[in-house]
Amino acid sequence: MQQRILEGKTMVSGLVKLEMAGADRVKKRTVQHPGPFKRRVYLETYGCQMNINDSELMEGLLSERGFLRVENPDGADVILINTCAIREHAEQRVRGRIGELQKYRHQNPDLVLGVTGCMAQRLGGRLIDETSGGVDLVAGPDAYRSLSETIELIQKDAIERGQTLLDLDMAENYEDVTSVRSRGVSAWITVQRGCDHRCTFCIVPYVRGGKKDRQPEQILTDVQVAATQGFTEVVLLGQTVNSYESGDWNFARLLRSVARIEGIRRVRFTSPHPNDVTQELLEVMRDEPSVCSQLHLPVQSGADHVLKRMVRRYTSKTFLQKVDLAREVVPGIALSTDVIVAFPGETDEEYGATLDLLSHVRFDDAYLYKYSPRDGTPATRFPSNQFISDEVGSARLEQLIGLHRKIQREINEAEVGGVREVLIERPARSNGDVLGRTEHNKVVAFSGDSSDIGNYTKVKLTGTTGATFRGALC
Ligand code: SF4
Repeated sequence: MQQRILEGKTMVSGLVKLEMAGADRVKKRTVQHPGPFKRRVYLETYGCQMNINDSELMEGLLSERGFLRVENPDGADVILINTCAIREHAEQRVRGRIGELQKYRHQNPDLVLGVTGCMAQRLGGRLIDETSGGVDLVAGPDAYRSLSETIELIQKDAIERGQTLLDLDMAENYEDVTSVRSRGVSAWITVQRGCDHRCTFCIVPYVRGGKKDRQPEQILTDVQVAATQGFTEVVLLGQTVNSYESGDWNFARLLRSVARIEGIRRVRFTSPHPNDVTQELLEVMRDEPSVCSQLHLPVQSGADHVLKRMVRRYTSKTFLQKVDLAREVVPGIALSTDVIVAFPGETDEEYGATLDLLSHVRFDDAYLYKYSPRDGTPATRFPSNQFISDEVGSARLEQLIGLHRKIQREINEAEVGGVREVLIERPARSNGDVLGRTEHNKVVAFSGDSSDIGNYTKVKLTGTTGATFRGALC
């Protein structure tokens, strides 16, 4: 029998009134904008979920001042590009995009084109110079409160174009700002901004500053609001999310409290640091039914010498102890990881240790990268003869991807035939299928109706591409 969940809804004063008939039914969410709107802003986001959440935060701040977010740069009064600085490739894409968007500035001389986020913070005024004034405004992650006012002043010719808003502010946590969540089926909620670690390859501490944990009361209010809007899945966000602490709250306590909020059916969190994975946290994951049995554990390298040079603050042995603990406390937990190959000085032997670690742990998923030097990070100051050639780096990456794909295929093939509950997220790119996600964060494509997006259903896994599944409604 089909366990599809269908909606029966009527619009009442802009809110969705539910006609509940069945335990599995969920609310469709609605988002209310303050309005009335005077100007249209087009916001384009690059990079991680933290950035997507920051765009929602900017939308909240801008809508309070009469800006309406639009889906197309055509006819917009303001264009903002929210950027990532984690890899050179991400910055190159943004440079290309700034060039493409110049046509809108030529069509509309009043238009304000701004760049926000990590790349804006990293490059500051250089971005304005290198685009020959093609950017009117550059704002870093702690300066979003000043955005609307600065845009208005530029549009009134009260200040010149080429403004830079770059102060990093340890007191700025946007506690009181209501994000506008109008995209996707999950509510991404930032619990922490910045990072206190100094991994030598990473630009984040330099563009986002030190770790700032938000107040637990505010986080719980945000989750309650999201639940009221009809979100049933929440993802807690932070650079080292499980290092969260505020007064006598730690991350385990926060996670448990979020998991118990009425209407929340799934809770995930990203990205944890392996050192802050504790027995207490894992017990919350085991005991709270709504916390998904899935953990991202970024290892970066399997070689202790490389981990030391990365300043990751653990060894391969202590990392593996965390893996064992997670599997012991939460049987069946799905694990994923991040790896950087060809870090400066990585020998063939050290790279081999990473292959060994992946073979040993057998991660369900892995994000694998070749080292990308970022100006301003400590790793760029290693002696030049320690930098690995592109050719060697690419070969290592290719081999590692091959190994991971083989492992992933074996894990996923063993799951075929099983029945999983999925949250339906979006239409597939082709063929009218929809894509859902399991508790273990695995994607299943199946024949479905896009009107069911946001609902849960059971699917039987009928096959795998290796990385994702095909399924059929049960
Ligand atoms: S823990 Fe390391 S890799 Fe992660 S954001 Fe902080 S500095 Fe970057």
